[in-house]
Amino acid sequence: MQIPQLKITFLGTGTSTGIPMIACTCAVCTSYNPKDKRLRSSILIESPATTIVIDTTPDFRTQMLRIHNARLDAVLFTHPHKDHIAGLDDIRAYNFFQQKPMDVYANALTAEALKHEFAYVFADKKYPGIPQINLHTIDETPFVIGDIPVQPFTVWHHKMPVFGYRFQKFTYITDANRIDDHVKEMIAGSEIIVLNALRREKHISHFTLGEAVALVQELKIPTAYLTHISHQLEKHDDVEKQLPPGIHLGYDGLQLLV
Ligand SMILES: [Zn+2]
Ligand SMILES: [Zn+2]
Repeated sequence: MQIPQLKITFLGTGTSTGIPMIACTCAVCTSYNPKDKRLRSSILIESPATTIVIDTTPDFRTQMLRIHNARLDAVLFTHPHKDHIAGLDDIRAYNFFQQKPMDVYANALTAEALKHEFAYVFADKKYPGIPQINLHTIDETPFVIGDIPVQPFTVWHHKMPVFGYRFQKFTYITDANRIDDHVKEMIAGSEIIVLNALRREKHISHFTLGEAVALVQELKIPTAYLTHISHQLEKHDDVEKQLPPGIHLGYDGLQLLV
């Protein structure tokens, strides 16, 4: 299969509260730098023929409007935490314009949570105008969406299994603090990785900045962008200067070709 070039757009790079956080007056939350404004973590992946979003955050509608996205073929979920699923109802716009249900892919844990959290979507008697969803429960078997091959794999968010995704040379991992050795082998050889890095202090379910940098170096992936960032990390420009070559903080609106 011919592998298409992918355009990656960072739709959001913030932790669950977003930055600025409501009611916070810290230096990061009051920064004027647009790179310090972080919606909840999500990316868009586009080939010439196919558009995929990873997670539908509480900011999903805003994220799609601000990049003027007009087409969406599928949603890939990482895990069922609210900051990664809350925006699902807003895929209705694509249902209306594309005249078909949205293909949604999730691991078993997330699929069950979606049925619970969005019970009205899966009810026998459906209210008119609700989201139309084709829910695919997936495991770690590779599959293809349109012309984009997808390799799911499991990482650990404290005790919760979270799906990361590899798209040939590009790997996306959010909400992890531990990766099994056999999965490190699945990720090795990526040219670009996106990896979560919450803050400098230890956290029960997220990599710290130091842990994320060490992991990128261990995996020998030449280019990395860190995401799911808390206001407890300093301002973007101050942190970016201190990072080793090839490792960067992600920011909303960043685009990559891979
Ligand atoms: Zn999260
Ligand atoms: Zn989470």
